[in-house]
Amino acid sequence: MRRPRVLLLMPTTTYRAADFVSAGIKVGAEVVVGSDQRQTLEDAVPGATLTLDFQDIDGSARLVAEFAEKFPLVCVVGVEDETTELAAEISRVLGLPHNSIESVRAARDKYRTREILLRSGIQVPRFWKFPAREDAHSIAPRVELPCVVKPLFLSASRGVIRCDDSEGFARAWQRLQKILMEPEVRRKGGELADWILVESYIPGEEVAVEGLLIRGELKSLALFDKPDPLWGPFFEETLYVTPSRLPEPTQRAILQTTALAAEALGLREGPIHAELRVNERGAWPLEVAARSIGGLCSRALRFGAGISLEEMILRQALGLEVGSLQREKKASGVMMIPIPRAGRLVRFDGADAALAVPDVEAVVQSLATGQDVVPLPEGSRYLGFIFARGSDPESVEAALREAHRRLKIIVD
Ligand code: ADP
Repeated sequence: MRRPRVLLLMPTTTYRAADFVSAGIKVGAEVVVGSDQRQTLEDAVPGATLTLDFQDIDGSARLVAEFAEKFPLVCVVGVEDETTELAAEISRVLGLPHNSIESVRAARDKYRTREILLRSGIQVPRFWKFPAREDAHSIAPRVELPCVVKPLFLSASRGVIRCDDSEGFARAWQRLQKILMEPEVRRKGGELADWILVESYIPGEEVAVEGLLIRGELKSLALFDKPDPLWGPFFEETLYVTPSRLPEPTQRAILQTTALAAEALGLREGPIHAELRVNERGAWPLEVAARSIGGLCSRALRFGAGISLEEMILRQALGLEVGSLQREKKASGVMMIPIPRAGRLVRFDGADAALAVPDVEAVVQSLATGQDVVPLPEGSRYLGFIFARGSDPESVEAALREAHRRLKIIVD
C-alpha cells in the first residue's frame, strides 16, 4: 500500500524540521517539505520538496493544488505561525479537515484576538492599537500605565516591552518602531507590521498550555508552569516545567479558558499553544496560537509509549488515534538558555558537567560559536536548550537550574 503523503510547511528558520521529518517517518508517511527557500533536493528528488511564498496565500495554494494532482496529499501541517494561514487555505482547496482562514488569521493577529476574546466575554486587559509611524509622545497620554507595547504578530516575546512611566513608554515605542522596520519583520508581517498594540499590564503567574483540537474539542497535552518571574521590561522565556504545581481548580480554570478562547477564535483542528496569566481574578489568555510550542521545547513532551509531540500532530492530521494518548507520568522541563548580553558567542562550555546533573537528559547548543547573540526585545534566535525529566516538577526545576549554573557561556 502507498504511504500517505503529508505536506509540512516550514520556514527555513524553523527549529523543528528534523523532529517533524523523523515524526513523519515514524508514522509511516511520505513527507513533502514546503519551504520558503529553494531546497537543493528539489530537482534531485521530484515530489520531495516545494518552494512556496508563505505570504502569497492564493498563488501558493494554487501551486500546491497542481502539485497534488501529480503527488496526492493526505494532509497539510503548518509548522510555525507564518505558515498557518497557507496550511488552512491549501486544506480548504484540497477538501481536507482544517481551521478556517479567518480563525488562523485572527489567532495570528494579537489585536484581532483581543477584540474577539472581549466580545466573547473572556477576560482581556485594556488594549489599544495605533499606527506604528505615530510619535510616542502623542500616544502616551492615551494609554494606561503600567502597560506593554507589542507587535501584532511575531513570537517568543520579540518586541514585547513593559513600560511603567511616560519616558519608558517613549523609549519602548521607539525601540519597537525600529524592530518593525527590519526588512525580515516587514516581509513576515505584511500589513500587521504597520501597527503597534498597547495593553494594560496583567500581573500574575504565567503558564502555557499545549493542546490538540479535534473537531472543536480541546485535548490538553500539557500544562507548563513558568517558574521564573516574568515582570519585564522584557519577557525572556526560560523555564517550562510540567505538570503544573498550581492548585487543581486553577488548572481546570486555565484549561476551560483556553478551550473557550480557541472556540471564540473559531479554531477547531490541530495543535494550539496558549499562554495565559493567572491572578485572583482568574485566567487571562495572552494568546492562543494555531501551532505547537516553539524552539526545541517540544522535546520535553512524550506521550504513550514514547510518542513525540510532532508524531501526535501528524497522527491527528492523518486521522489516526490520539484521543487516548496521555503525556508520560514523569515530570519534565526545558530551559531556554537565557542570553546573558549582546555580542558574539565565543564559548559554550560545560555541557558535560551540566549533563552529569541527575535528571538532566540533554543540553543543546542551538547558536553556533562565533555567531552574534541578540537579546530581547530585538533577538529571535535561541542560544540553546536544557532538558530534564524526573519524579516531580520541583526536582526537574532544580536540575535545570543546576545544569545551567554549570554551563560556561561567554559572550564577547
Ligand atoms: P509572543 O507571541 O511574542 O510570545 P505575547 O503577547 O505572548 O507575545 O507576549 C510575550 C510575553 O510578554 C508574555 O508571555 C508575557 O510574559 C508578557 N506579556 C505580554 N502581554 C502582557 C500583558 N498584557 N500583561 C503582562 N504581561 C504581558
